[in-house]
Amino acid sequence: MNIHEYQAKDILKRYGVPIPEERHVTKATMAEKAAEEIRAVTGTNKWVVKAQIHAGGRGKGGGVKLASSLMEVTEFANDIIGMTLVTPQTGPVGKLVRSVLVGQNVYYPGDSAVQEFYMSLLLDRVSGRYVLVYSPQGGMDIEAVAENTPEDIFKEIIHPLGLQPFQARKIAFNLGLEGKAFQNMVRFVDSLAKAFLSMDASLLEINPVVKTSDDLILAVDAKVSLDENALFRHFEYNDLRDKDEEDPTEVEASEYNLNFVKLDGNVGCMVNGAGLAMATMDIIKLAGGNPANFLDVGGGANARTVEAGFRIILKDPHVKAILINIFGGIVRCDRVAQGVVDAYKAIGNIRVPVIVRLQGTNAEEGKALIDKSGLKVHSAITLKEASDLVKSVV
Ligand code: GDP
Ligand code: MN
Repeated sequence: MNIHEYQAKDILKRYGVPIPEERHVTKATMAEKAAEEIRAVTGTNKWVVKAQIHAGGRGKGGGVKLASSLMEVTEFANDIIGMTLVTPQTGPVGKLVRSVLVGQNVYYPGDSAVQEFYMSLLLDRVSGRYVLVYSPQGGMDIEAVAENTPEDIFKEIIHPLGLQPFQARKIAFNLGLEGKAFQNMVRFVDSLAKAFLSMDASLLEINPVVKTSDDLILAVDAKVSLDENALFRHFEYNDLRDKDEEDPTEVEASEYNLNFVKLDGNVGCMVNGAGLAMATMDIIKLAGGNPANFLDVGGGANARTVEAGFRIILKDPHVKAILINIFGGIVRCDRVAQGVVDAYKAIGNIRVPVIVRLQGTNAEEGKALIDKSGLKVHSAITLKEASDLVKSVV
């Protein structure tokens, strides 16, 4: 589950990660008061106004602005709230910005005493451990750094007992720091690693980590994905989900406990079991189609889940055919077939051909149910038959 920058920073602060003074603002009229509060605490006369959306690259898209007066803070908040922000990560449609973060601008671009670093923590699947990836070339496109100067990207595999002091020192050293900045970085990295492990994040990215001209080390940006499988032990994160930022069909699917991922092809598919769903997408490809989605209806597929699956798939105007691929292991094929027939009748005018492939327990009975239903549903028993049918309709 992705969360907003302001939410991520709130959590990080609790673990002692230094964050600039900031306020989250949902209306432009609240921005001036937020900026005044920040000035009262820090004495600053420079602010930053940042769009809060679940996507990076906001700087490049005009979603991050530096303000040097209260008037400008309000002006920028006004510009950004309500805008559709297009960044390299949002796709061409962009995302509607519903709120901004007003913060203390802790550094001035071009100040030679200021440095921007890159830092992220994630799982390294090769070593089966967490890894801290970091670079002295932060702020900008880390992808470009990886491409052009890969030697500037360092990795520290985190010790199973947590990041060790010698590891934190090594990181500060590799970032070229000395004196007070070195010590502050050691502390920063230590609290960041503790936060990452305690909050059960699957990804924590800070770009940039900033060294200010007075040698403070601060997290100026924060992108966090929380591990959904661990949310049950973090009731404090219950309110962090922002459904406005998620694909509406994926939100609807999750309400029916369907594992749905929207894709951009033309063959909708409904399958029981994630492995079979992956294989089904391969078959659609081989038959010359492109899957419009991944949908695992789970082991206990019934009329209700099949109907919800149909409705969700049919919302996509690109869908030209639907392939239902069910293996009757836990579930009986005739039960699913009855579910398909009932759902088909309940929905009414399904405008695309539906191909049903049933295999396993009571497959023949299931096929018979579909064949005699009188509906425009093709039934197939073998995968070959199913893929031939897909080929004939796409
Ligand atoms: P992203 O583009 O979505 O990753 O958003 P960031 O929070 O990283 O902001 C984009 C860029 O704006 C950063 O790389 C910084 O260079 C700049 N930026 C962000 N916050 C501040 C700030 O407080 N002061 C200054 N001077 N620049 C900032
Ligand atoms: Mn960033």
